[in-house]
Amino acid sequence: MFDLKTEQIKTLALYIHIPFCATKCVYCDFNTYAGIEHLIDSYIHALNLEIQLWGKKLNTPKLSTIFFGGGTPSYLRASQLTELIQSISETFHIESNIEITLEANPEDINNQKLSEYRRIGINRLSIGIQALDDRLLKILGRRHDAESSIDALNKTLDFGFANTSADLMYGLPNQSLEDWCKTLEMVSGLGLPHLSIYCLGLEKGTPMAQSVELGKLPDPDPDLAAEMYEFTVKQLGDLKYRHYEISNWAKPGFESQHNINYWENQFFLGLGPGAHSYMPGIRFSNIKSPREYIMRMENISNALEVSRNMQDGTQIIDELENISVNTEILDTLMMGLRLETGVSEASYFKRFGHSLYQKWNVTIDNAISDGLIKWDKNNTRHKPNRHLQLTAKGKILSNEVLARFFADAKS
Ligand code: SF4
Repeated sequence: MFDLKTEQIKTLALYIHIPFCATKCVYCDFNTYAGIEHLIDSYIHALNLEIQLWGKKLNTPKLSTIFFGGGTPSYLRASQLTELIQSISETFHIESNIEITLEANPEDINNQKLSEYRRIGINRLSIGIQALDDRLLKILGRRHDAESSIDALNKTLDFGFANTSADLMYGLPNQSLEDWCKTLEMVSGLGLPHLSIYCLGLEKGTPMAQSVELGKLPDPDPDLAAEMYEFTVKQLGDLKYRHYEISNWAKPGFESQHNINYWENQFFLGLGPGAHSYMPGIRFSNIKSPREYIMRMENISNALEVSRNMQDGTQIIDELENISVNTEILDTLMMGLRLETGVSEASYFKRFGHSLYQKWNVTIDNAISDGLIKWDKNNTRHKPNRHLQLTAKGKILSNEVLARFFADAKS
């Protein structure tokens, strides 16, 4: 059983999962699938139902952002996206200027699609480029090459999608520092206002991890990856990008509002198979299999029944976790420290009713003396509002910083 405290939910970020990809990239362990396109129509129908049910269940809450992620949302036809956006706007309260992001792959970008995206209200595109080197793109199992990726980015900007982001990865097998510098220089020369740049994680069970285990690919060198990160920080800093989150850079005003919502540990609703949600005192995720998700949604014949079934978590919800105040505090610190602005002492006090420093003084003082975190003072008109932030060293060693807070919480 779980009890939703709907009265505490004023605004929500909405995530819609699109679990389809034309092919599966060898490093990817997301809940996405190739070769199940025949399910797309029935999936859209099931998703529509889930949108409507949650809208009713939560009393038509206001949405702060909408994010179509995957998978490859650009793999859908514009008419299918239109149907989803219509359904969302009929069921949730949406203000006209909210950020609506769609993740796209370069091979799907053309003027017709861009025009349709604009018509249906998508105002931010996040394009999965990953690398600008054909040899590395092949290793990653991507379908596009460097030239078509640059073409897609230029097309998107020329079309007038000012709010466009590119996803890139470094720390790849067989990638040298020179390779990465070249890619970063090429992409940063295009004038994109936002870049998400992640270090490749070798996920267990993926074909790439197996190739590394079998010695067919070299294990990426973490020291080299750290050098790549340092180069990125310097290069993008020189180009006046704001390093607003550990792995994200933006020109002022182009920060991802949807992701900031996650990093500020605010509430969100995730729809579709495997999607996660966070509501007051609870986190939960849907069953992962798209086929099973469609089947269960189809079995639900009316809204009342679904509403009841969601209430006891037996229909499409797979995992459910009650969030204690201590977990919420740790999550808020863990995610907030990822942001350049860090964790505001005043906001922390407002949310939890006790002083950030008093509760964590030993961990904070030790991490400050080790050069991992710092206080940044933002003097408001009447009193200073300190923000706890990672230093440059702390950004590279962020996992260690977070582990210290965890250890402190357990002691
Ligand atoms: S396109 Fe993205 S989601 Fe799909 S398999 Fe490749 S990395 Fe995974």
